[in-house]
Amino acid sequence: MKKLALHWQILIAIAAAAIVGWLVQNAGGIDARIPLVDIAWVALFDFIGTLFLQALKMLIVPLITASIIVGVAGIGGSGNLGRLGGKTLTFYATTTLLAILVGLVLLNAFGPGYDASGNPIGEQLALTDDVSAVAERVQGKGVGDVVQIFLRMVPPNIVSAAANGQMLGLIFFALLFGWALSQLPKEQHDTLLNFWEGVLAIMMRITGLVMAVAPIGVFGLVAKTVAITGFDAARPLLFFSLVVLLALAVHCFITLSVLLRVFGIRPWQMIQALSPAMLTAFSTSSSSATLPVTMDCTENRAGVSKRVSSFVLPLGATVNMNGTALYECTAAMFLAQAYGLDLTLATQFSIVVIALLTSIGVAGVPSASLVAIAIILAAIGLPVEAIGVLLVFDRVLDMARTSVNIFGDACCAAIVARLEGEQTSVSVD
Ligand code: ASP
Repeated sequence: MKKLALHWQILIAIAAAAIVGWLVQNAGGIDARIPLVDIAWVALFDFIGTLFLQALKMLIVPLITASIIVGVAGIGGSGNLGRLGGKTLTFYATTTLLAILVGLVLLNAFGPGYDASGNPIGEQLALTDDVSAVAERVQGKGVGDVVQIFLRMVPPNIVSAAANGQMLGLIFFALLFGWALSQLPKEQHDTLLNFWEGVLAIMMRITGLVMAVAPIGVFGLVAKTVAITGFDAARPLLFFSLVVLLALAVHCFITLSVLLRVFGIRPWQMIQALSPAMLTAFSTSSSSATLPVTMDCTENRAGVSKRVSSFVLPLGATVNMNGTALYECTAAMFLAQAYGLDLTLATQFSIVVIALLTSIGVAGVPSASLVAIAIILAAIGLPVEAIGVLLVFDRVLDMARTSVNIFGDACCAAIVARLEGEQTSVSVD
């Protein structure tokens, strides 16, 4: 019998987890226990999910390091690197800006921060409710913090940057390392490149192993979330959530799809090729944790060369976040509407610019954009406590925006591959 494709396996796992999680929620949620063994269901789901997430995270540092070094060194002479790097960064900036604009337009069009008669809904949302913990975490963020993000790019200690998940620093170091490697005399160059290619091959192999159990891991992650929060969590802010989901869908199915088409790539095939990665992003809410799967799908299912994908994707997982930038902009606009803030053109412009810049520095981990939203709120003069409102449904929206984040990275890889004259398996001809 033919084995069911991985994305179907993961989809079935998500559906099963939603049902099981819902049953557990009705049986008492966190307190519901497994008969006979007296262990909480949620603890079991948490164990399975955490194990899967940790297995993915375990791969991140060696994978990012090896793939960027191999990618940069493989591109060779500085002329080539500059060309590929230039194309990649231009695409990242353009698609991120387009994503933000989609969010901005839809938010202005639907105005979810106002009620039916056009009044701000701030009071209904009880904007200052029990948010001290979040406020503490994000307190004192301002425009100056945008500068901090870029300072972190050059880490004083590369080992501590890797240990603390500061991926921008690690990426910067790996880029330099790869460039320097490409300048070495032939003998040293070949030996070292061979070594790093070997490391990359090993990491991809281990990724394959972890992916084989992805449906089980995904089941644990989704079942736990549903068992704890149920489906009601997002209800009070359903309209806003729907506008965000619509904007994400427009970006994914219209903006990115049109771009793909323009460059001779079949959008639907691309979505199909990337579906295991998008579903993994959906259940982990982490672009970084999904990176191994994104690389696997982009190379083996979309047919993008290792040369392009090992440069574009690890960079994209941290630097290019279409969904996150879109969300930052819509969330800040929504809160501004709810507070009744006068949304002048200048205010909207600052929101767009800060969303663009901070999305570069946001880490690829769950809920990372909340801190960036705090920076925007501070910059436009709103209390950062307002962010507490977003927590209610952050998880659901995080799942969706993370899927869009990694799809944006993969689209960029496929388009850059086409611009480099490659034939991918998702190309039109
Ligand atoms: N969870 C997102 C990611 O990993 C980041 C965010 O928007 O919070 O891509």
